[in-house]
Amino acid sequence: MPDSIPENTINTRKKGRFKPKGRLVQRDNLIALEQLLPPASEMKRDMLIEYLHIIQDHAGHLSAGDLAALAHMMRLPMAEVWEVASFYDHFTLVKEGEMPPPQRTVRVCTSLSCMMAGSTEMLAELQKNSPDDVRFVPAPCLGACDKAPAVADGHHLTEARDTAALSALVSRPAHYQPVTSHIGFEDYQAQGGYRLARQLSDGSANSEKLLESLDKSALRGLGGAGFPTGRKWKIVASQPAPRFLAVNGDEGEPGTFKDRFYLSTDPHRMLEGILIAAHLVSISKCYIYLRDEYPEIRDMLIAELDLLKASGLSDHVDIELRRGAGAYICGEESAMIESIEGKRGLPRHRPPYVAERGLFGRPTLVNNVETLFWVRDILEQGPDWFNEQGKEGHPGFRTYSVSGRVARPGLVKAAAGSTVTELIEACGGMAEGHEFKAYLPGGASGGILPAGKADLPLDFGGALAAEGCFVGSHAVVVLSQQDDMWQAAENLLEFFTHESCGQCTPCRSGTIKAVEEMARPAPNTEILGQLASTMADASICGLGQAASNPLLSVMKHFPQEVPSQTHPNAEPESGES
Ligand code: SF4
Repeated sequence: MPDSIPENTINTRKKGRFKPKGRLVQRDNLIALEQLLPPASEMKRDMLIEYLHIIQDHAGHLSAGDLAALAHMMRLPMAEVWEVASFYDHFTLVKEGEMPPPQRTVRVCTSLSCMMAGSTEMLAELQKNSPDDVRFVPAPCLGACDKAPAVADGHHLTEARDTAALSALVSRPAHYQPVTSHIGFEDYQAQGGYRLARQLSDGSANSEKLLESLDKSALRGLGGAGFPTGRKWKIVASQPAPRFLAVNGDEGEPGTFKDRFYLSTDPHRMLEGILIAAHLVSISKCYIYLRDEYPEIRDMLIAELDLLKASGLSDHVDIELRRGAGAYICGEESAMIESIEGKRGLPRHRPPYVAERGLFGRPTLVNNVETLFWVRDILEQGPDWFNEQGKEGHPGFRTYSVSGRVARPGLVKAAAGSTVTELIEACGGMAEGHEFKAYLPGGASGGILPAGKADLPLDFGGALAAEGCFVGSHAVVVLSQQDDMWQAAENLLEFFTHESCGQCTPCRSGTIKAVEEMARPAPNTEILGQLASTMADASICGLGQAASNPLLSVMKHFPQEVPSQTHPNAEPESGES
């Protein structure tokens, strides 16, 4: 054991003889990080993920040496930095002696809509012939299911979506298109934007009346949970100050791409929602948690936020933009809060609810991007304007993300309670050569229904709940006679296996075991049923509780498609309409 510090090595012990233990901090790594990051004395624990992003953006990966240097600068145990970095998919960790990955990473989405569009075969072809300086990797949903198969160069969505176009793309230097066609700050104001926010600032609008008005509207959490928005604002407003706002822009549910659209076309409508929430709930700090898959939106939002801040309109609330790092579970509100605090995105046990103890232990209002997007319109035009736009018993309108076997996949803004038949019609009918067979009413976890149940209102609770399904973030994926239902369920279970945070055994092991069982030539449906009920009953959060929904749906509605056998409790129902 050496008594003196080896050249180029930092002594991390304050006193005593030098005893190398664990990973040593190399002077070179430390000097490099000091150029990139804020001074150690100004570093904040909750910024750990941001610092990891800065290092990875610069080097293309996170080396063990850089992680040791970062831990030293932040005065954190190396294990803590390593466990956070290794939790998130978008960080590439390189241990001592390992080769760094190729500089350029192209991500091919293999989630359901993209798989149906042939992404798995395309990825295999690309991986066979990839140049040395490029790696093609599978990726969970990129939030562009209307463009299936979706592909991202780095994290930037590309128009190249077949093997020939992608091979040509990677033969050229990377070039990214910024978002430019959005409604910018000046145009938004010229169209009446920020009038309500100004009235709240100068006291000419009454906060209490507006909060009552929001509560009368049927606006609900549009990220998937569907909790009444006005009631949530009132609950948080009743909690002691200081209070936080966390905006959930981690749109990761396969099939969902509405937040991408609203943010990239009309960002200030959501930002005005933030300003209004801050006034009505007396919030002085807001974090926008944006998924890492939307870098062009992040760049645009940074510029637009600068304009907003310079205008003085947001003086009452400090708005900070935070970057996710490729973890679906961070769309769950308490996992997102952990991530904003710079930790692994592990969902919390409840109670306490985040409205009481959320970010940094303070009462926190969590709203989805689209929920905030509609606040200004509802308060300006009144709750009745919003409520009357729904179907009977389903007030309000919704933005359905429709993908799969329809002629024109895309967003459909329609009355709450619309049916899949109406949505398919709005998308130009079925794609040529495809007959409607089944649909996902609410993304990966909302279950699968046969075409025979096409007249169910797609809304929170009600008829969908009676079928064991839910509408979630209103992501509707349409399947046809060309699709294998068992393969679709396997794809969805594989997604959950990959995205399980691993915190609880029923979900961590249950998803793995379910995928293994499903892959057998003759899966044991008894075992699959037992796994499903254990996951549903004993998992901590919604991911594990709902992960087996697609599997149960296929066993129930499409028993003839379970390989080599029929499920004993199957309803004698075919997928035909
Ligand atoms: Fe994590 Fe799954 Fe447990 Fe949720 S259910 S806490 S995702 S392991």
